[in-house]
Amino acid sequence: MKQSQLFGKTLKTVPKDEVSRNAELLIRGGFIDKLMAGAYSHLPLGYRVLNKIKNIIREEMNGIGGQELFMPALQPKALWEETGRWNDPGKAVMFQFKGREDKEYGLGWTHEEVIVDIARKRVSSYKDLPFALYQIQDKFRDEPRAKSGLLRGREFNMKDMYSFHATEEDLLNFYEKSKIAYLNVFKRCGLDALVVEASGGSFSKEFSHEFQAMTPFGEDIIFYCPKRDFAQNKEIAQVKAGDKCPICGEKILEGKAIEVGNIFKLYAKYSASMKLQFTDADGKKKDVIMGCYGIGPSRVMGAIVEVSNDQNGIIWPTDVAPYKIHLITIGDSAAVIEAGEKLYNHLLKKGEEVLFDDRAISPGVKFADSDLIGIPTRLIISEKTLTQESVEFKRRGEAKNELKPLKELYA
Ligand code: ATP
Ligand code: MG
Repeated sequence: MKQSQLFGKTLKTVPKDEVSRNAELLIRGGFIDKLMAGAYSHLPLGYRVLNKIKNIIREEMNGIGGQELFMPALQPKALWEETGRWNDPGKAVMFQFKGREDKEYGLGWTHEEVIVDIARKRVSSYKDLPFALYQIQDKFRDEPRAKSGLLRGREFNMKDMYSFHATEEDLLNFYEKSKIAYLNVFKRCGLDALVVEASGGSFSKEFSHEFQAMTPFGEDIIFYCPKRDFAQNKEIAQVKAGDKCPICGEKILEGKAIEVGNIFKLYAKYSASMKLQFTDADGKKKDVIMGCYGIGPSRVMGAIVEVSNDQNGIIWPTDVAPYKIHLITIGDSAAVIEAGEKLYNHLLKKGEEVLFDDRAISPGVKFADSDLIGIPTRLIISEKTLTQESVEFKRRGEAKNELKPLKELYA
């Protein structure tokens, strides 16, 4: 992509009410646009990042047997009355409204009701189980505080998966597999996430498991063992800072973190109220056993920016970067322009993802934009590098740079 053609210029300022670092850098860098508190557009650069995160999640969910589908966000009141969640005061996050003929609807803030409705029309025997379905879709929640940029949206992107089993044992098996898949997702996104015990929330009395990315800007407080064999969210904690880790005896630490994922064992909570049953091998009718597994790709994007930036801008981990190479020409001599075009076309032919800053502007602005946008590898062509038949090579976030012979790049 030529930067002269890229929609979404970098900006010097951000909206006045924007306080979070992720929103500041993402807005200034031309990744997102703020429509209102809790609702952001992903501009071309930002949409590339979001899609990379979504694709990593897809690969990992497919890897444990998840099948992707897509459900409506627009949902009828009657369905939510089956589980008693239409009038649940704790769930004041649901946007509810009337349509034609006074019919009532809600916007999906989670999708248990819809997925169980799909499953109950199709599951009858133990032979139909197990399976796991997921979607990547926008969720709507009337969040009281939407001041943290992509970390807390009122419309935000979520991957939600639901698993269906004949036995608890089978659920537990899949649940452990999902933990590994989740850790893979966060690692590939460049996030160091801890598995943290948390309340089952409205879903169950047992612990659920959160995946928490440690950062001083997180909203959650967690107690964790530095050896990572134990961690609990402060909201339910049975330990405190300074206590001994119940697993290894190491001193428990306290830290702030961003919840990037959350998995729950639902057991028969929704299958019982919505009559999702199957006939087992012994001929008896039983409730289907379920689990649910959420990750917010847009929150993950915000979390990456929160943990990976410096005073000049974002530092994208390679696998989620909008482009892998930032090619920059310095100076407007014919030789520089020609060498830039030639290398750009060569890299494109090789299938590289390149952003080419071909703009006729000052080097200072180009470097500042490049730092702000945060592409991992920078290649600079100038009169000076050309006299040595080289390009300057620099990694974002590292001070050192080196000359690489053009020959090497063309080899
Ligand atoms: P929180 O406690 O932060 O409000 P939650 O526990 O309600 O989140 P879940 O219902 O478990 O969240 O949603 C699954 C995932 O969706 C979360 O782990 C997070 O990554 C993402 N998510 C939840 N709420 C938001 C939001 N308002 N904006 C962006 N992402 C969100
Ligand atoms: Mg949660």
